[in-house]
Amino acid sequence: MGLKYFFIIVQNASLLITFALLYNYLWVKNPQKNKFVFKIISGIIIGLLSVLIMSFPAIFFKGIIFDTRSVILAISGLFFGFIPTFIATLLALAYRIYLGGAGIYMGIAVILTSPLIGLYWHYFRKHWSSKNFILELLLLAVIVHTLMFGYTLLLPKDKIISTIEILWLNLLFVYIPATVLLGWFMLNQEFAFKNIQADKRFIETQKRFITILQKLKLSTVILDKNFEIYFNNKTFNEILNLNDEQIQKKKFNELFSDTNNKPLSELRLRELLLLPNFETIYISKQHNEIHLYWTVVQLYDLNGDIEGYALIGENITERLLYEKELQIARNKAEESDRLKTSFLSNISHEIRTPLNSIIGFSDLLIEKEDDDEKIEFLSIIKYSSNKLLDIVNDVIDISRLETGQMKITREYFDIGEFISFVFKIYESDKVLLSKNNLAIKLDLPDYLKGQKLYSDKTRIQQILNNLINNAIKYTDKGEIELSLELSRINGTDMLVFKVKDTGRGIPDNMLNIIFDRFRQVEENDYRTGTGLGLSICKGIVELLGGQIWVESTVGLGSIFYFSIPYIQKEENYNDFIIENVDEDLKLYNKTIVIAEDDPNSFYYLNKLLSKNDLKIYRAVNGKEVLEIIKNQKVDLILMDLSMPQMSGLECTKIIRETDKEIKIIAQTAYASLNDRDRAIDSGCDEFISKPINKLELYKKINALFQNKILIE
Ligand code: ADP
Repeated sequence: MGLKYFFIIVQNASLLITFALLYNYLWVKNPQKNKFVFKIISGIIIGLLSVLIMSFPAIFFKGIIFDTRSVILAISGLFFGFIPTFIATLLALAYRIYLGGAGIYMGIAVILTSPLIGLYWHYFRKHWSSKNFILELLLLAVIVHTLMFGYTLLLPKDKIISTIEILWLNLLFVYIPATVLLGWFMLNQEFAFKNIQADKRFIETQKRFITILQKLKLSTVILDKNFEIYFNNKTFNEILNLNDEQIQKKKFNELFSDTNNKPLSELRLRELLLLPNFETIYISKQHNEIHLYWTVVQLYDLNGDIEGYALIGENITERLLYEKELQIARNKAEESDRLKTSFLSNISHEIRTPLNSIIGFSDLLIEKEDDDEKIEFLSIIKYSSNKLLDIVNDVIDISRLETGQMKITREYFDIGEFISFVFKIYESDKVLLSKNNLAIKLDLPDYLKGQKLYSDKTRIQQILNNLINNAIKYTDKGEIELSLELSRINGTDMLVFKVKDTGRGIPDNMLNIIFDRFRQVEENDYRTGTGLGLSICKGIVELLGGQIWVESTVGLGSIFYFSIPYIQKEENYNDFIIENVDEDLKLYNKTIVIAEDDPNSFYYLNKLLSKNDLKIYRAVNGKEVLEIIKNQKVDLILMDLSMPQMSGLECTKIIRETDKEIKIIAQTAYASLNDRDRAIDSGCDEFISKPINKLELYKKINALFQNKILIE
């Protein structure tokens, strides 16, 4: 029986191996395995295999056959589940019944219980394959075959002992090991397949991940643990303007600087990589700074040691720039706010001081009888009023400059005569004379004497007034020198005016700032002035096409320079001759209407015009003007623009509908260029702003009635 039995074992073993291989191809790798039809097919195949196994049995006694059906059916239950195992069991059962013999009951019992035990494991010990699977398989095999051993009791009594004698060795050395081996082999096939699948999935995921990283609009680099770059995406290359060769194998710290602009050391990088985020700077070939803000992901190997770093970087260069600009704008706004507040408190002081004298001395004047004192008080009032007017004019000028409304009127004038005229005014300046040790001198080079300049004389005088007044104000002793020279600056001939003093000087850090509006050296101390003068000078000089600058040494003095293009418009000389207009009023026997709602302003104008047999009428609004001119022949109207009921503009328009002859001079306390244009547009011949200067009024009236053009 020995050799024969060996062959049977080999036969059974090869059938079991076939089964195991079938399992791999028909089941493990089959994507259809969960379909119902395929489960039936699988059941039939396993059933037929069981039948085949039963066809090559070890025949112990006639009708008592042993084979490995218990193994295959138990393993079927364990791996295939209910439907295939149920069908296989039916087929095996049918065949065993067909075979008949003395071992039929034992055979049926084995066919019924072996798959049930396998199914129990399949459904109720699902995790058998995740750990200790050999033990689990052994337990299953032992239970299946212990039962089988027990089923020998179902054999005819006389065969029990002799069967047991043969069977126990087979159970121990064939059935149980075969079950475990077959289960182990099949499980390994499952594992191998799952590993391949996992590998595939891993490669697929990795590919997808790399594609995502490549397409990411954020810079991405992956470093090994020595900080060498072995992956970089396109965005990173584009931002740094480098190609792969220039990046890969380089250490990350070799490309970047720290935020303090020092090269990034390996030590520092090691520290930074421990943080969730950090910032680096890249200096481009064009020497521009590129700021990258990195998010760090540490990569670990299976042992939990750091294997490398994935870095995702956002280019924050523009954002930083924007933030910087925002900060500057904010600082500027805050400073401007601070300056405005300081200006307001300062201007309040500046306005109240002269007002104090005006009101105070006016009161005294009313009480005084002494003529000498009256004259002194009056001169103080006049001086203070002029100071007040200067402030108002400065405020108007700065707003005109800022809104682009400053008007420049160029004319042709003699440089020498002009500068000497300005100098003469200051020779007798009260403030200068009050400083005993201070003198003023003029240095006019011979080559400029008799030369003409085409520019705005009034505005240049305004700049000089500002500079000389400052020089006098900030100098206690020594000399103020007014001079001018011709100089070629950037290829253009320029006339450079110079106001030099020996005063207290200006600190270096304030040299540019003092030309900004409201800015003064003594911003934190006691100060006088509004801080507007130099910024007005700068605005005007620039409008005239020149520049203004200062050199100064604290304690020794300052030199203010400004340049004006040296234009000599010879050919148009005649166009710009100022008509010689008389300064005293040359209007006789005419009728004038003074349209003025404010009684004091009327009183003042009435005083100025009560001469030369002029007939004066007063109107307090436009309607009254119309009323008067309906009844008399009127030659001139001094038209206040803002009056109740009917404004000066409205009234002028109505008059001009029928009367083009009557002369109208608009007068207003607003002095913007708009007002002037609006007045002229509605039909006024001239415009004069309040406070009205006597000479200016006379000149304007004379020019109108003598049909002369007055150039301002
Ligand atoms: P302010 O009305 O205050 O004089 P400015 O704009 O004319 O306004 O001058 C600005 C500031 O510049 C002054 O407050 C003063 O601090 C400084 N400054 C101007 N001229 C001189 C000068 N000749 N010497 C010293 N400091 C001067």
